[in-house]
Amino acid sequence: MGGDKVLMIGLDAADLLLVDRWGEDGALPNLRRLMASGVSGRLRTSARYLVGSPWPTFFTGQPPTRHGIYHDFQWQHEGMRFARPAWEWLPALPFWRRLEPEVQVLSYDVPFLMGVQEAVGTEVVGFASHDRIVEPLSHPPNVMREVEREFGSLRMLQEDYGVSDPEYLLALRDFLLEITRRSTRTATRLMQRPWDLAVVVLGALHRGGHRLWDRSSANRAMNEEEGQAFDRALLDLYAECDRSVGQMVEAAGDATVVVFALHGMMINACRNDFLDAMLARVLGGTDAAPPRQGVVRRLGEALPLGLRRGVTQRIPARLRDRIMTSWATGGTNWPEIEAFSLRADLQGYVRINLCGRETEGIVPASEYDALCEQIAAGLMSFRDADTGDPVVAEVRRPVDVFGSGEREARVPDLVVRWVESPAASHLALVSEEYGRVERETPGRIPNGRSGNHRTEGFFVARGRGIPQGSRLSEIADIVDLAPTILQILDVSCRNELAGTPIPIHG
Ligand SMILES: [Zn+2]
Repeated sequence: MGGDKVLMIGLDAADLLLVDRWGEDGALPNLRRLMASGVSGRLRTSARYLVGSPWPTFFTGQPPTRHGIYHDFQWQHEGMRFARPAWEWLPALPFWRRLEPEVQVLSYDVPFLMGVQEAVGTEVVGFASHDRIVEPLSHPPNVMREVEREFGSLRMLQEDYGVSDPEYLLALRDFLLEITRRSTRTATRLMQRPWDLAVVVLGALHRGGHRLWDRSSANRAMNEEEGQAFDRALLDLYAECDRSVGQMVEAAGDATVVVFALHGMMINACRNDFLDAMLARVLGGTDAAPPRQGVVRRLGEALPLGLRRGVTQRIPARLRDRIMTSWATGGTNWPEIEAFSLRADLQGYVRINLCGRETEGIVPASEYDALCEQIAAGLMSFRDADTGDPVVAEVRRPVDVFGSGEREARVPDLVVRWVESPAASHLALVSEEYGRVERETPGRIPNGRSGNHRTEGFFVARGRGIPQGSRLSEIADIVDLAPTILQILDVSCRNELAGTPIPIHG
């Protein structure tokens, strides 16, 4: 290794527009200083089509059709069920595990990692990230035990789906502030161990962005005091993360620093609660109703709240996964299903029940293209019933967006990208050809997420040889981050990386 040390700080789902706005207001002095003394830029992201894909895209350095991971609980066609991705699903390890052996790596709480690996320095997963595939783990195993003995143990809560009491949302803010401070103390302590590359991720802006974006996450009107506290809750979280950035940059000495986000946050534009009804009409005509085991169940709304909390918080992960699968697919009569929706958080995902791929597939390969085209055109025909505004921006096949790849069978056949406008207001949608579908929760998004992802990320890089205070006019891609880091470290990687280094040195 002939280059410089690198500290990467991932601010999961931090949004560049907010960072710019609150930076100008003086609320984020550390990020502001980094931007003024380095180079920054926007990042194209695989989250534009597969919102759960950007972390695996980042850490493998490959597009989703090659790594195959698009959700934390995704369709597994071999068993006709949903499952939590595991290492054996991935064709490539994280790029920092594939470097020259003398490179010491510290990775702290990178989302979507399926565990830790021996012999790469220090690795910690599953503590404070928004998406956790595995229970908390560290390598070496005693590392987290020691840290928890010193700082106490605190773990990210499972997300509580559905609109919530304002008291709960304000308590969530306090929890996220505390877990950010705890993660920062832990990460800076771990940075006292040897490292050449450190990748540290803070999860609070992701969870906070979904639930604290605006007051529509609440189940009742707020009084004045609650409202004032709520309206600045997200800013409070950004300010706390900014302090964390300051402390970690200080601890990193003369290392090059790269702060990054793989996607952002904006008002929720997700209309997935309509998708099953839309799909049923397109496949079955104007009278067709969706099968009972529809997407509403998959969104986590249909279980009573008490049981839902029991299911997601208290029982062992394996049993929880079995219950969640049978609740999403139980009773499905596969021999009658040509296409169906998948669990999804932003874009809608449609899967064709394809012969030879799905174990209970019924659609012959010769009919696949025509069926995809029929579904895409049908879904595009729906509009808001009152305003006539379009709701679907485009329907695409991931292979057309990302190219073919060895794991393309794992990703949805069709991605429904909704228009980037607020989704809460719809009462019903209508199509000239397929008729009207009513919303089960008129004027409200059922899962309580007022914020959802802006499908663009950003980075800031500061260090030796990097010019001060510029923003790249050309947009880079999140797959370019890994090659950029390798170039700064001046090391090679055994992963085949899809990206190219971002021209941060001017
Ligand atoms: Zn999210």
